[in-house]
Order: sequence, then C-alpha cells, then structure tokens
Amino acid sequence: MSIGTAERPLRVAVVGAGPAGFYTVEHLLRRPDLVVEVDMFDRLPTPYGLVRAGVAPDHQKIKAVTAAFDKVAAHPGFRFYGGVELGKDVTVSDLRTHYHQIVYCTGAQTDRRMGIPGEDLPGSHPATEFVAWYNGHPDYRDCQFDLSQERVAVVGVGNVAVDVARILCRTPEELAVTDIAEHALEALRESRVREVYLLGRRGAAQAAFTNPEIKELGEMQDADISVLPDEVELDPLSRTSLEQTNDRVGLKKVEILQAYARRAPSGKRRRLVVRFLVSPVAVLDEGGAVGGLRLVRNRLVASAAGTIQAQPTEQVEDLTAGLVFRSVGYRGVPLPGVPFDEKWSVVLNEKGRVLDADTKQPLPGEYTAGWIKRGPSGVIGTNKPDAGETVTAMLDDLAAGHTLQPTEPEAAAAERLVHQRQPAYIAYADWLRLNELEIARGRARGAPRAKFTRIDEMLAALGNRGRS
Ligand code: NAP
Repeated sequence: MSIGTAERPLRVAVVGAGPAGFYTVEHLLRRPDLVVEVDMFDRLPTPYGLVRAGVAPDHQKIKAVTAAFDKVAAHPGFRFYGGVELGKDVTVSDLRTHYHQIVYCTGAQTDRRMGIPGEDLPGSHPATEFVAWYNGHPDYRDCQFDLSQERVAVVGVGNVAVDVARILCRTPEELAVTDIAEHALEALRESRVREVYLLGRRGAAQAAFTNPEIKELGEMQDADISVLPDEVELDPLSRTSLEQTNDRVGLKKVEILQAYARRAPSGKRRRLVVRFLVSPVAVLDEGGAVGGLRLVRNRLVASAAGTIQAQPTEQVEDLTAGLVFRSVGYRGVPLPGVPFDEKWSVVLNEKGRVLDADTKQPLPGEYTAGWIKRGPSGVIGTNKPDAGETVTAMLDDLAAGHTLQPTEPEAAAAERLVHQRQPAYIAYADWLRLNELEIARGRARGAPRAKFTRIDEMLAALGNRGRS
C-alpha cells in the first residue's frame, strides 16, 4: 500500500511554528491527491514564530497573516504540539521513528556579531533581544535595557533597526494601542531617550530598509527625522548602479532620504538621526559600561564581484551614546542531530533537502524551509515560495519511494510519545483559548491583545492542563 492514502497517510513532522512552518503545511495539505497528516512542534506554547515575536507591535496589519495560519491549523490532518522542544523533549531519532518526513523550520534564533572591541559591554545589546523583549517572548521577558539614557545608537539600517528606532521614538499613547508587551510598555513610558541614531555603513542607495518603512519614520507623532545632506548625496558609483539595474525603488529611497535632509526640525520632543557611510570600530567603555561608539568614515568602492562596498578612510569620530543596539542581522543556530553549515549558519541543504555532513548527499526524509534553510532575509511572504520549493522536493522524493521508514507511523503513537515527554504540551485548541484570553485582556487598554509573557502564566490560564 503506498504512502499518502487514507489507509496509510503520509506522516510529516514540522519543527517550528513560524511562517515557513505554516506555509510548508499549507503546501502539503493543499494536495487533493494525497492524504497527509502533519504534526507541528514548537518549543514555545504559542505558534506564529516571528509574526508574534518579531514583527513590530505597531505593524498589526502584517500580523493579520495569522488568520491564514489558523485556517491551515483547522485542517483535520493538522496537530500542534506547542511547548515541545527538539533536542530536549523529543530527538531527531524519535521523529524518525514516527514520521515519514521531517521539516526543520526553526528560523534564525540569534544575532550576528559585529566583531569589534567593547561589543559585550553592559548597555550594548543585540537588537534581536530588544525586539523579543518588547514583543513578549518568554525567554526575553526579564531582559533589562537602560532607557534612562538620553541617546541611543542603533547599528545597521535594515528593517529591524528601523523597527527598534520606531519603538524607541513612539509615544506611550501610540504604543498603548498596539500589542506591545505590558512590561515593555511600562518601561518605555518611563523612557528618557531623546535621540536615536541609526548607523549605516554604506550609502543611502544601499540601505537595507524598505521604502514604506523609511517613510513611516518621517511620520512619527513626536519625533523629528534628521539626515545629513552630504551623506545622502548620490555618488557616481551608486548612481550608475541604480541606473544600470533600472532600480526605481532604490532611486525613490534616495529621494525620500534627500527630502528628509531638507526638512527643518518641527520641535518634536525626540530626534531620530539617520547616518550613512560610518562603521563602528569600537564600543567605547565609560566606567565599565557603554559610553558611545567610535565610528570610522567610509567611502564606497566597487568589489571585484561588482557589489558596492564600504571602505574605511582615516577619518574617525566618536558618538556619545549610553545604549547601543546591534542590528546587523539574525543568525541561525544548529539543531541537535541536524547537519549544519557553519559558514552560512543554516541547516546544510540543497533546495530544502537536508544533506549528510560527510557525503553531502540528501538524507532520506529530512528537509528544511525558511530562514534556517536560506538565511535571515526577505519578508514573511518570501517564505511561501521557499516552502513551496521544499514541498516539491518532498513530494518528488515520496513519488520516488525515498522516505524515512518509521516503525511507529500512527498518529496515536506520536501523541503517546509527546504525552510521555511533555505532558504540559499545548494543542491548537489551547492556543485558540489563550488567544481569546489575550484579546480580552487587551481590551482594557484599547489594544488588540495583552500577551501572556511567561509560560507558567499561559499554563495557569489554561488551568494547568496535564500538569501533575
Ligand atoms: P538586514 O536587512 O540584513 O539588515 C542588516 C543591516 O546591518 C544592513 O544595513 C547591513 O549593512 C548592516 N550590517 C551588517 N553587518 C554590519 C557590520 N558589521 N557593521 C555595520 N553594519 C552592518 O537584516 P534585518 O534588519 O535584521 O532584517 C532581516 C530581514 O527581515 C530583512 O529581510 C528585513 O527586510 C526583514 N524585516 C522586514 C520588516 C518589514 O517588512 N517591516 C521588519 C523587520 C524585518 P550592509 O547592507 O552594508 O551589509
């Protein structure tokens, strides 16, 4: 009897309940010719990955994508095992015993390093931690950020840096009506931050942020945006590159920034300064904590491959700042028992097929999708075609008879295993209940929800189901 029929469903484990995980499930369950059962695991009790813990709270429209994920989760062939961690509660070997195919969709859980002196001084933090903190990720619930500082420097000019700058510049009233975590709202209410610097190492044309995001920075209720005119002048190298590639979006980005450079301050309480062509070379130590950044001025040069790169000059300046956020990109972490590409910080794979570390040949039945497959780039929707590529590989391999050979492929057997290893796991119905409770809690402050930010709190709200 072939796999994928009512008598013998294709049993798939998806590890990670973020966008890549849900898009993978969606592609799998959409097949009319195949009976599929998917068990989705996440180490957190709550689903949605970075849609919950990464997307900025003042970007609620982006979060609306969760409605599509809930629709996927309503499929009878879908189960959620929240609060179940790979490598702790279940192992790859357990999954191989219970599933025909496994898909790793764990995203990029940590930050890239800048590799400069002083990076770990108190007061220098990865932006990823600040983001997880204000979004109520339980692991970052107790982080402390010294918001009594008047000036903050954010290194990097990607969309995460922009999110961080926006959250630091918003008024408490603007934040209160978002789903920002209660503890972060309280801390930001007391914030004495007056100036936020965003620091780009290349020029305006190379900035990683997108145009809607940079436009939004010019529309803040109580923060003026400021840009230095000579730093956003279009240099010949960038102009040629934009023209040759007919990059209208890039030209528009430079125009927006040049318009900011012409803007006079309007007397708002906070100032957001976007700088270009500067690289931090050291975090300055003042009495054992962050005192600022030493910046070197860069010029733009073309690399041998034709990309435009920053080259340091002799010109150095010090920027005083009491708090530094390093927003230079996310980084994937290895999963226990899964081959890892150290250079790119992704699961070792080819088009979504996990490769054996020694032979570099595909491992039967093991796949990956999303940031842990391709690295931390792109928006949520980018994960849909990415997951599609992986699912195509999965179905081709299934058709060719290349799957794992689980000895206990029945759904009930997997459920018994999870019960035994993590009796306090959260099913999707539990999450939907938590969701309702969060929405009800949020009403009091006019917010879309007030998140539970501790796992114990979530379990208590559900009546400690399964806890002995
Ligand atoms: P990103 O877009 O890759 O930006 C990283 C930034 O850090 C770039 O400006 C990069 O400059 C800079 N950088 C890297 N190494 C550096 C160093 N050693 N010194 C100084 N600067 C350095 O990453 P991200 O902001 O973390 O965002 C990740 C992904 O999520 C992106 O695709 C982003 O668009 C997406 N995202 C989207 C939204 C949204 O749609 N609203 C919100 C958040 C995130 P170079 O360009 O010179 O390397």
